[in-house]
Amino acid sequence: MVQIKKVNQGLIVSKALLSKSGIRPRKRLGQNFLEDPAIIEKIITHARFDKNDVVVEIGSGLGALTIPIISNIYHLVAIEKDPLLITILKERLSLKEKEKITFISGDVLKLDFKEIYDKFKQKLQIVGNLPYNISSPFLEKLIINRNYIKNAILMFQYEFAQRLTATPKRKEYGALSVISQYYAQISPLLKIKRDAFYPKPKVDSMVLEIDFKKPHPFQAKNEVTFRKTVKAAFSYRRKTILNSLERGMVSASREMIAKALTKCLIDPKRRAETLTIDEYIHLSSVLMPDKTIP
Ligand code: SAM
Repeated sequence: MVQIKKVNQGLIVSKALLSKSGIRPRKRLGQNFLEDPAIIEKIITHARFDKNDVVVEIGSGLGALTIPIISNIYHLVAIEKDPLLITILKERLSLKEKEKITFISGDVLKLDFKEIYDKFKQKLQIVGNLPYNISSPFLEKLIINRNYIKNAILMFQYEFAQRLTATPKRKEYGALSVISQYYAQISPLLKIKRDAFYPKPKVDSMVLEIDFKKPHPFQAKNEVTFRKTVKAAFSYRRKTILNSLERGMVSASREMIAKALTKCLIDPKRRAETLTIDEYIHLSSVLMPDKTIP
C-alpha cells in the first residue's frame, strides 16, 4: 500500500522559492510549477509506487513531485535542464532524502535510459510534468527505450493527451495515436486545470499512464514498415486511403496498394482516420511483407 506521508512537505510556493533566489520561471523551458497539493496527492496515488521502484523524474523543477515521491520508492533519478532549480531543490531536501536521489543536470532527450537500467538492474518507472515543447520527441524516445521501462505517468498538454488516447473516427486520431497505442496501453488518469500551476499556463493538462507492459496484442511483421504505412496514410488525411498511400509511399505503386487494400478487405475510398490499429498492422504486412520501405 502506497504511503503519501510526504505530500505536505512537498507542498511548494514556487513564486516565493524563485524570488528568494532572485530568478523567474523560464518560459522556454516550460517552467509551470505544480502548486496544488490535492493534485500532487492524486498523481502519487495513481502511480501506485512500490518501495522497490526506481523512478526517473523528468524535469524535477522545485520538487513538487520529487519530494512526495522519494519516501515511497527505492531510488529516484531526477533529470533537470535548469541547474539553478537543482540547487534550489537540493536545499529543500534532508540528508536522508538526498541519499535517495541522483541528480542529472541536462537534457532528457539526451538521457541514456539503458545506463540507468543497467545500474539498477530493473525496469524503470517514468514520472514527469513534462515541458510541453518536448512531448513528441520525448514520447518517441520512450518508445525506442521501451525495453528498459515498465510504465510512465506523465502530464501532457490536454490536446496532446487527447491525440495520444484517440480512437478511430475521432478528429484527434492520427499517426501519433496509432503508433503510441501499438507500443503501450495508454490510459487517461486526471484532467488538471491550468489554475493548479504557477505561472498559470494558457491550457489545461492531462495525466496519462503509458504502460509498456501491455502493448497492442497483435504485432506487425515489420515495425518499420508499419510505422511508415501509418505516417503515409495520415500525411494526407483528407484524401482516400488509396490516394494518401500512393502519395506517401514512394516505393509502392498504386496497383500494389489497391491490391493490398482489397486483400485486407479495406475499401480504398475510406480515409486514414477510420482504420483501426489492427487494419494498419494487416495492411503493412500485406503491402511490404519482408522489406523496409525507403
Ligand atoms: N516537476 C516540476 C513541477 O511539477 O512543478 C516542474 C515541472 S515544469 C512543467 C518542467 C520542468 O522541466 C522544468 O523544471 C524545466 O526546467 C524542466 N525541463 C525543461 N526542458 C527540459 C529538458 N529538455 N530536459 C530536462 N528537464 C527539462
